[in-house]
Amino acid sequence: MPSEYCPKCKTIRNLRASIVIKKTKDKRGKIKETAVTSYHCEECNSFIKSEEKKTRTKSINDLLDY
Ligand SMILES: [Zn+2]
Repeated sequence: MPSEYCPKCKTIRNLRASIVIKKTKDKRGKIKETAVTSYHCEECNSFIKSEEKKTRTKSINDLLDY
């Protein structure tokens, strides 16, 4: 479980991760998949950060590697 400083709680909180797969087309018309992981504070639900990972072969479970 990742944890980070929450500005609203003013302390370190566990983060709740949610993943959305974004599909975008590149210049050649190829579809690229990007997994966007958003982290929210487990206590107050404030948005903390988001990370983007390009994915082709990895399944969504591989991204939840904590
Ligand atoms: Zn919080």
